[in-house]
Formats: sequence, C-alpha cells, structure tokens
Amino acid sequence: MSSVAEHLAIIHTKIAAACMRSGRRETSVELMAVSKTFPPTVIQEAVDAGQTLFGENRVQEVLGKIPQLPSHLRWHLIGPLQSNKVRKILPHVEAIHSVGTLSIANDIQRIADELGIRPTVYLEINLADESTKHGFAVKDLPAQTEELFSLDRLEIQGLMCIPPFDPDPEKSRRYFTQLRQVRDQLEAGANRSLPGLSMGMSHDYHVAIEEGATIVRVGSAIFGGR
Ligand SMILES: *Cc1c(COP(=O)(O)O)cnc(C)c1O
Repeated sequence: MSSVAEHLAIIHTKIAAACMRSGRRETSVELMAVSKTFPPTVIQEAVDAGQTLFGENRVQEVLGKIPQLPSHLRWHLIGPLQSNKVRKILPHVEAIHSVGTLSIANDIQRIADELGIRPTVYLEINLADESTKHGFAVKDLPAQTEELFSLDRLEIQGLMCIPPFDPDPEKSRRYFTQLRQVRDQLEAGANRSLPGLSMGMSHDYHVAIEEGATIVRVGSAIFGGR
C-alpha cells in the first residue's frame, strides 16, 4: 500500500469513530482530499485508493491538473476566487467553497446565467473577523443575506470556515459550533435549507465532525507536509 493509501485508510477509520461518537451515519460526512501543491502522480495514488473528491485553492493549478487525471474525479475550489477567473473555473468544478463577498457571488450569478448552469457554492464565513482571512463577517450577514439568497443561479449548499489555526484541535471546536449556529439562524431567517457545513482540516476534522461537518477538507494528513 502506498503511504497515501495508508493515510486515507487511517482517516476513514477516524471519520467513522467521530461519526460513532456523535451518533451520525458515516455517509453523512464526505472526505475531500486537498491536493494543492501536490503533482498528479501523487494525486493518482489517492485515486488508486478510491478517493474521488479533491480540493484545490488556486484556479491555475486545478485547471492544469484536471486534464492529467481521470475524468471521473470531482474538483472543488476552496481558495479565494478573483472575479476575472470565474468564467474559466465554473465549468470545471463541482463546487466553490470560498464565496466570501457579495461581489464575487454576483459575478458567479452573472456568468452562471450566461452559461446556463447552477453552480454549488458555500458561503465562507470569517468567524473570528480576522483581517487576514476572507469571508463574510458574521455581523454583516443579516444585511447581505437577502441579496445573496436572491441570486437564483447559486445553489447555496451551506457554509464554510477556516478557524484561526491552533495546534490544539479542541480550540477549533467553538468555531465549528458557531458555524453550525450561524447556519441554523440563516436557515430559520430565510426559510431555506443549508445542509452543508464545510469545516475541519488535517488536525481538527474529528472535532468538526462532532460539531456537524458534512465535508472535511484534509490535505497534509493525506499527502504529507507541503
Ligand atoms: C490547505 C487547505 C486545507 C487543508 O489543510 P491541511 O491542514 O493540509 O489539511 C483545507 N482548507 C483550505 C481552505 C485550505 O486552503
């Protein structure tokens, strides 16, 4: 077994344990393999182990990799998207996790309308209001959700967050709880369903699952250090 395959097997075991602890079905959580900076040969090892969902954070990088890998793979963009790249990336990814401004949401709406598609997106929430991070500030959401939810080309699947990094995974817990609560409030306020919670990375995905993550974004625990 390749080391990538071994890592994937370990992660699946830990995902199953976290689901068991929190009374969730294993099928309610999907593992995204974050393959940024890794070449197609390494990604192929994950594919050989059965992984089909991959996350990348740069448009150029993912567009370069897609043609070099099997066509059944599903790609999600998890890094910030610039307005001038929307048209290029939309046809190639299954979802965008990093919609963090009204302006980019409107760009996606306009181009998706031209292309006749309904892209799946997650709203990135900047929970700790960190100036270095992208995403909607929680305090700004009430003023922005009406416009966001009026963008009828956007299949808003749910919310995404990247908590402030702390090596202690328990330190992430309150952010994951908060993302779920913000989601619950939005659902109640807008009377629509936002089932997706994209949260949890290599060091804290087990905590994220306990708090309701539906998709965990795991990179270095699968592929090694970058
Ligand atoms: C790189 C990245 C990840 C994965 O991080 P690891 O710590 O390597 O698991 C997850 N989400 C986003 C948005 C990233 O940029």
